[in-house]
Amino acid sequence: MLVFVACWPLLASQAGRLIPAIGAGDVGRVLQVISVALGLFLLQKLAQFGQDTLLAAPALQVSQELRRQLFARLQRIDLGALEKLSAGDLTYRLTEDADRVGEVVYKTIQDTVPSVLQLVAVFGYMVVLDWKLSLATLLLAPLVALMVSGFGARVMAAAERSQRQVSELAGLLGEAIAALPLVRAFAAEPWLQQRFETEIDAHRRARYRTLRLLALQHPVVGFLEAAGILAVLLMGAGRIAAGDLSSAGFSSYVAALLMLIDPISHLTTNYNEFQQGQASLRRLRAIEGERQEPADRHGAVPLDRPRGALALEAVSFGYEPGTPVLRHLDLTIEPGQVVALVGPSGAGKSTLFSLLLRFNIVQEGRVLLDGHDIRDLRAAELRRAVALVPQTTTLFSGTVAEAIRFGRNASDDAVRRAARLANADGFIEALPGGYASRIEERGSNLSGGQRQRLAIARAVLGDPAVLLLDEATSALDAEAEEAVQQGLHQAMAGRTVLVIAHRLSTVQEADRILVLEGGRIVEEGNHDQLMQAGGRYRDFCNRQLIRAAEPLQAPAHG
Ligand code: ADP
Repeated sequence: MLVFVACWPLLASQAGRLIPAIGAGDVGRVLQVISVALGLFLLQKLAQFGQDTLLAAPALQVSQELRRQLFARLQRIDLGALEKLSAGDLTYRLTEDADRVGEVVYKTIQDTVPSVLQLVAVFGYMVVLDWKLSLATLLLAPLVALMVSGFGARVMAAAERSQRQVSELAGLLGEAIAALPLVRAFAAEPWLQQRFETEIDAHRRARYRTLRLLALQHPVVGFLEAAGILAVLLMGAGRIAAGDLSSAGFSSYVAALLMLIDPISHLTTNYNEFQQGQASLRRLRAIEGERQEPADRHGAVPLDRPRGALALEAVSFGYEPGTPVLRHLDLTIEPGQVVALVGPSGAGKSTLFSLLLRFNIVQEGRVLLDGHDIRDLRAAELRRAVALVPQTTTLFSGTVAEAIRFGRNASDDAVRRAARLANADGFIEALPGGYASRIEERGSNLSGGQRQRLAIARAVLGDPAVLLLDEATSALDAEAEEAVQQGLHQAMAGRTVLVIAHRLSTVQEADRILVLEGGRIVEEGNHDQLMQAGGRYRDFCNRQLIRAAEPLQAPAHG
């Protein structure tokens, strides 16, 4: 940087020698000066290359580190807080905004610092040449600075607005892409198109306001510069006429003056970008402000070999204060018991799961695993002991084996065992690549039943003591259904199972059925008992809310 900057005044002094030589027609001298200048330029550009490459690496590391830290925070974000954030918006922040911050850091060091040094060095040289003239030049500077900073603030506000617009656009796009088949099914394309167009129009307008401000800023600053230079030329003519300055000195002076324009214009641009970068940084830091999942307690109880005894003691929980979802729930489940949860939608079944996984924390009462309050356990250990098979299976793209492993250390044998348990081994072996076959994004190259069986294999890989099962509501064909059921049956053996049941075969197999309604257990017993009792459960079965595997096979006691 120093070499790069020091070359400028040296080049200006060469200009002072060159112009009189050209005027005198002394070709030999002109050649001599030009070769010196050429050498100086070469040195300067080499120095610039060194500076830029040395700085690029750390600047990129800034973006990378920002992303790394924010993603780590995102992974720990409170799930309630996450629901309120848009995936598209978050994506934008972690890609565009993080890049912008890195760019600003790069620009600041790679361009702003040398520009400032260049201003100082070149202006210092001008002071040495003629301090009176330089003083007059300096008077113009505050005027330019004032204009620049005034604009900067407005550019920043406009930039922030336009970045918010892009985020909203990304949010809408995220929603729209996921829902495109649905939109088509409802022939709602014109409506979505309209919504999209409104959004991109708002984006265009916000962007236009920023660009207009920038467009205004450049000519204003440029005009001030030009007027300043012309004023200096006029004063210089006066100084030469008075005999205070030689024409060679004045040539150097003007060359130096021209060398001031570049850094000034760089500083203006960089200042704007700096402001935009700050807007990006603020948007990134907003993620830091989101609620985080509570950390494990100090002195957390280790969970060695979980047995899978679950208990709820007077548990109450609600998402919003004043609207309880679960009310004073008492429940004891012995290790190895299979308990089916049945109830209308909104009864609180999934909420109960979220409490057992500590996604949410009870407001009253306690949730116990093997007699330990789950708040006293380490989250990682709790979730190793309690595995979830969700209603809809999410699979990351990657190989089949990777999907089952899901980041855990497990031998190929263990993966195979889990797959066999989930009744998935057969179809996996039949795939062209076996366990190394690739799963496309969202598992789109697998059937629904295959995805479910992979989800079961994934859950049992860690040999959890407790299995939380959210049965898929969507019907598979009889054959696929049977394959999944068999997988489930094998996976459940020897574990405590809590299943949100939608199938008759599941409830019939359960040791206990809990009927949940309005956040309370309203009935309890096994299938036969509950059918005989003729209460809510029977009503439920009669309304076919619990479905038999095959349509022809009527509920046994229906
Ligand atoms: P179920 O699984 O039995 O259908 P849920 O546990 O999903 O029931 O929901 C129980 C109640 O809690 C419903 O009234 C639902 O609207 C509410 N609820 C569920 N999740 C949330 C959430 N993240 N924020 C606020 N309310 C929620």
